[in-house]
Amino acid sequence: MSEIRFVKADKLKDKPADMSKVKFGTVFTDYMFEMEYDEKNGWHDARITPYKDLAVSPANATLHYGQAVFEGMKAYRYNDGKQAAIFRPMTHLERMENSCKILDIPEFPLETVHEGLKKLIDIEKDWIPDGPGQSLYIRPVIFATDPYLGVSVSSMYTMLIILSPVAAYYANGFAPVKIMVEDKYVRAVRGGLGEAKTPANYAASLHAGMVAHEKGYDQTLWLDGVERKYIEEVGSMNILFKIDGKIVTPMLDGSILNGVTRRTVLAIAKEWGYETEERRISVDELKQYYESGKLEEVFGSGTAAVISPVSTLGYKGHDMTISGGKIGEFAQKMYDEIDGLHTGKVKDTYGFIEIVGEY
Ligand SMILES: *Cc1c(COP(=O)(O)O)cnc(C)c1O
Repeated sequence: MSEIRFVKADKLKDKPADMSKVKFGTVFTDYMFEMEYDEKNGWHDARITPYKDLAVSPANATLHYGQAVFEGMKAYRYNDGKQAAIFRPMTHLERMENSCKILDIPEFPLETVHEGLKKLIDIEKDWIPDGPGQSLYIRPVIFATDPYLGVSVSSMYTMLIILSPVAAYYANGFAPVKIMVEDKYVRAVRGGLGEAKTPANYAASLHAGMVAHEKGYDQTLWLDGVERKYIEEVGSMNILFKIDGKIVTPMLDGSILNGVTRRTVLAIAKEWGYETEERRISVDELKQYYESGKLEEVFGSGTAAVISPVSTLGYKGHDMTISGGKIGEFAQKMYDEIDGLHTGKVKDTYGFIEIVGEY
């Protein structure tokens, strides 16, 4: 594919004066990456253009049938603010290719998009906020654009990468959450779309999330859609447990999203000498560990929060208090380690960091 064009903006925006007051996903930078697909030209016209609204046909296939995938990753000020870095960009782009396969979206040229992403972050590096826990959220998305109401795999697509500066996820310090085992609604089923990062899974989760909120919980703990027994994910994060000294997480069985943070946590835990297990774990088994005092910690993992410690697990009307209602020691240590890798305070011996610009 030809090289990536750059279309300069007439005027640049003002950056937020106080990043700590910016609500997640509400502020966007000056530029975005853009590329289209059609059957004649394949993926073409990769470019960095001014961020702008799009015009779509009212018959747009995504609006009606939801053929779309997305990603979420972050860029950080690295090495005392001397460099701009992205955390595991290729791992995220490869997962996006996998999501494309599941949704029958034509595979995009990985190298061109990787180049485009690096170039975009370098151009926009002044938008990466530099306060503790702050970052530049990177949202790639691919969506069908056929102006056609027939139900079929689309023949036209648009890919965008947009950027949004985000405040620290834990504005009031690293805080534990209350989660509720959901035994009525399911997020995804084996054979469905659970392993793809696609809007449908989010649409399927919204109502149950609202019900959990009404009952006083922060997140939904999802069980498998077939037997309604096995633990899958929490909210839109993966879930991990510390049980009798071991780090245990549900195995990827087709309905669980293969989280980059999950993989990061497992790699670091192994490096630290912990035994890790990826296996099916039922909510009743978990309850037994709780009753015998072996359930030491519960935490979610995802790009937005990094680590989300769980203090309360509600199941069939009863609450289990985890780690004495406090932040678990392992969760805290893991959060500090990954946060350190993001900024360069912890040396990256894993190859997770990609430097994309110098200040
Ligand atoms: C994005 C996502 C995660 C977390 O993945 P990361 O790569 O760690 O950000 C987990 N579960 C679901 C359903 C997701 O969409």
